[in-house]
Amino acid sequence: MSLIGKNLDSVRQAIVQAAVGAGRDPSTVRLVAVSKTHPAAAVREAMDAGQSCFGESRVQEALPKVASLPEGLEWHFIGHLQTNKIRKALPAFTLFHGVDSLDVARQMDRIAGETGLSPEILLEVNVSGEETKFGFQPEGLRREIEGLLALPNVRVRGLMTMAPYSEDPGVPRRVFAALRELRDKLAAESGSPLAELSMGMSGDFEAAVREGSTLVRVGSSIFGDRPSAL
Ligand SMILES: *Cc1c(COP(=O)(O)O)cnc(C)c1O
Repeated sequence: MSLIGKNLDSVRQAIVQAAVGAGRDPSTVRLVAVSKTHPAAAVREAMDAGQSCFGESRVQEALPKVASLPEGLEWHFIGHLQTNKIRKALPAFTLFHGVDSLDVARQMDRIAGETGLSPEILLEVNVSGEETKFGFQPEGLRREIEGLLALPNVRVRGLMTMAPYSEDPGVPRRVFAALRELRDKLAAESGSPLAELSMGMSGDFEAAVREGSTLVRVGSSIFGDRPSAL
């Protein structure tokens, strides 16, 4: 088996263990293999090991990669989407994890309407209050959620967050629990289930699964290290 295949197996096993340990059905957690910076050949190796869902965070990098690989793979956009890239990105991706402002959501909705698409989106929340991060503030999202749910073309499926890096494993765990609690509150207030919780990366996906993640975005534990700034 390839190294990527072995890595995928270990990540899948760790997801199952974390889910079972938390009393969850492991099949409710989907693994998004984050292939950003890695070539199409790496995606093929993962495909050969049974992986069909991939995540990319840069439109320019992703489009040629997506085009060079077989149809039938599922591509998720996981990064910050610049508004001037929306038109190109919409047809390539089925789920957008990081919709981080009302402006981006509205522009996606308008362009989706013009092009006859109805993309699924997750709203990125800045739970930890870090200044450098993109995302809705929790209280801001409570004010905007009705407007977001009323957009006719984008379909809001849930929330996404990134935990800050910390030596203390309690930090990501508290961030993930806070996202789940915010989702529960927004779902009760809005009547929309917001069923998906995209949380957990290589360093913290097990904690995220214990706290209710339905989509883990794992890159380096599957494909190896990236150049540092990405
Ligand atoms: C790069 C990236 C990931 C994957 O990170 P790893 O630590 O390599 O698993 C997950 N989510 C987002 C939003 C990313 O940009």
